[in-house]
Amino acid sequence: MHPFTASDVITVWELGERLHPLERAILLLSVAYPHQSQQQLAMLSVGQRDRRLLLLRQMTMGSQLHSVTTCPNCGDRLEFALNISDIYININEINESLSSQYENKTVQIAGVECQFRLPNSHDLAILTASQTIEEAYRSLIERCVLQISQAGTPVSWEALPPEMIEQLAQHISDCDPQAEVLLDLDCPNCQHRCQAIFDIVAFFWAELDALAKRLLQEVHTLAKAYGWDEAKILSMTATRRQFYLDMVM
Ligand SMILES: [Zn+2]
Repeated sequence: MHPFTASDVITVWELGERLHPLERAILLLSVAYPHQSQQQLAMLSVGQRDRRLLLLRQMTMGSQLHSVTTCPNCGDRLEFALNISDIYININEINESLSSQYENKTVQIAGVECQFRLPNSHDLAILTASQTIEEAYRSLIERCVLQISQAGTPVSWEALPPEMIEQLAQHISDCDPQAEVLLDLDCPNCQHRCQAIFDIVAFFWAELDALAKRLLQEVHTLAKAYGWDEAKILSMTATRRQFYLDMVM
């Protein structure tokens, strides 16, 4: 993985602007991991994908995150700061081989043995379209469960009772904890305690969007003042670019 250069930021911003967030996530990783195909990256589990995005964010912009949400109780603006290490679940993924990332898992629930894989970006696209939680559970099982057997005899997942489907879906989600990061927040206005989902794809994209627009502004200012081209301006270190900007402004 390599961190984004200024030029990478403009490139991903331009390519990703019209994409669905799920495609954006893969685009960001494909620039940081040029030796892996988009197809391979889309097969990463959602948690593996998000761990990579957190590391990429850390290498590109540092480990401090500042975000804002709304208190569900009083509607007040709730600002919060956290460090990537607070939410990063370390499973030594960097040393994990590609094959082990796609390895199937097995669980036993009430005498039923089930082989499954973790949901990836393709699955997530389908799951997020579900209308109800039951529908999402069933889609998850349908897509990610590879084989179910009871006392050595194959069983169809459709024959399982709803509570077992729910239990199984819950277990599959629990096996990929990085896929859903929940933050405990206290509202300073009404003291209400709430939980918020931290979505690294949306968060990082919003930052890249702002950074790309700022970089283009800087290119405009310096190109106008010095006649340098875009590639030359973007290849400068941020410190050097800022030094010239300070002289022009
Ligand atoms: Zn509040």
